[in-house]
Amino acid sequence: MTAPTFIVERGPDGCASFVCPQCGKTSRHGVGNGHRASHCSCWPDGYNIETPNGDDGAAAFEAYEKGTLRELRLRAQGFRPTAKKPEGDAA
Ligand SMILES: [Zn+2]
Repeated sequence: MTAPTFIVERGPDGCASFVCPQCGKTSRHGVGNGHRASHCSCWPDGYNIETPNGDDGAAAFEAYEKGTLRELRLRAQGFRPTAKKPEGDAA
């Protein structure tokens, strides 16, 4: 049995997702194209994932990680990005 190839989409974090044509389950995989172990029980030999444009997601993943790390650093410094208090009503 040969492993089938599925065309996947990549999200903003570079991760790939596709819907299994057999069971309808959505599977997510990380950066890189090529052979993967199956996340459902339909493909005992696994399958290959490919993007239409050959994008392996690495650049998107790196940018996403940097953005996440930057936000974590800002939070550690006391920033609360979503906390907005009205100004000018201090006691
Ligand atoms: Zn399946």
